[in-house]
Amino acid sequence: MMRLFSLLAAPALICFVCAGAPRETRNIILVTADGLRWQDLFGGMDPMLKDEKSAGMEHEAALKAKFWRPTPEDRRSVLMPFFWTTLAPKGVVLGNVKKGSSVRVTNAYRVSYPGYSEILTGRAQDEAIRGNEAVRNPSSTVLEFLRRKLDLDASQVALFASWEMFHLIGEHQPGSIVINAGYRDYDGPNRSARMRELSALQFQVLTPWTEERHDYITFEMALEYMKLAKPRVVHIAFDETDDWAHDKRYNRVLDAINYLDRCLARLWDAIQDVPEYRDKTTFIVTADHGRGGTIEDWHSHGKEVAGAEQIWVAIVGPDTPAMGEAANVPEIFQRDIAPTMLDLMGIDYREYEGVLGRPIAMGLPKSVEGR
Ligand SMILES: [Zn+2]
Repeated sequence: MMRLFSLLAAPALICFVCAGAPRETRNIILVTADGLRWQDLFGGMDPMLKDEKSAGMEHEAALKAKFWRPTPEDRRSVLMPFFWTTLAPKGVVLGNVKKGSSVRVTNAYRVSYPGYSEILTGRAQDEAIRGNEAVRNPSSTVLEFLRRKLDLDASQVALFASWEMFHLIGEHQPGSIVINAGYRDYDGPNRSARMRELSALQFQVLTPWTEERHDYITFEMALEYMKLAKPRVVHIAFDETDDWAHDKRYNRVLDAINYLDRCLARLWDAIQDVPEYRDKTTFIVTADHGRGGTIEDWHSHGKEVAGAEQIWVAIVGPDTPAMGEAANVPEIFQRDIAPTMLDLMGIDYREYEGVLGRPIAMGLPKSVEGR
């Protein structure tokens, strides 16, 4: 407490727009991978699905040579080499239930919209958000709250998503932040040549799905936007990890996870060259829901699917102790992510009206009390 007091007393560190503890984090990059199972994140290629015909794995010799190894630790390291060898050791990864770490959703539905809303508002809203119906988020999201609290221009808070529903999920007040999601022309600020090229490309390289464009477009747009606008708060929402699973194509799920890992590496490298981001940026990587754990339901999720409530979260940044994979720690919840973002940005999360979660203590400097 004394240390906190003396830090707050130093004029240069006084924060006039916030009331939380002093933090090194100046920017937040939230990355979500739709329905990426904890089984795949922590264990790599699933032995149960390795040769499973109904999961599209019968003729995948090259894929198996690339991603199959005898131990879960080796398998995850070849599937997500950047995440497991560079990112995770610098921060904390929660959610490996086999090692006594559980991260659960608190919404009743265990599908995407309720999950993303729980991440972005710090609460379940089961009465208003009933599954994936196209309704406007009834609450201001943490993205909007951060913009207001930090007095940022709309261009400083950006959300790029493969799924079009994010236009409704990401903001309560339309136009309060920059959102580009689904098959939609980019009409926001900083329309560079590359941005226009990507915007046009999305309509030329179609996915098999109507509401979700390729993650490549989403990620490249986000990266380009970050180069040009240097936003303080970014959410990049990948979707193909879920789409291919619903299509029962575990081979493509593995490719999508491996692609996500390459994107995380490129993001990390990109921010190292930018003074506004380097050593001042916290990454939070998580999922909106889990999926089943059996041959019958690995591709599915929802209220009735056992295990679909089980997710994971990684937090890496200048305020987070380097713990790596957490083991035997208290359970945390999806609704804790938004308050953690606020705390890391130096804001007292209790000022965010209606929030039900609490900051994740393992993501914060050691002295902090909390969950
Ligand atoms: Zn989902």
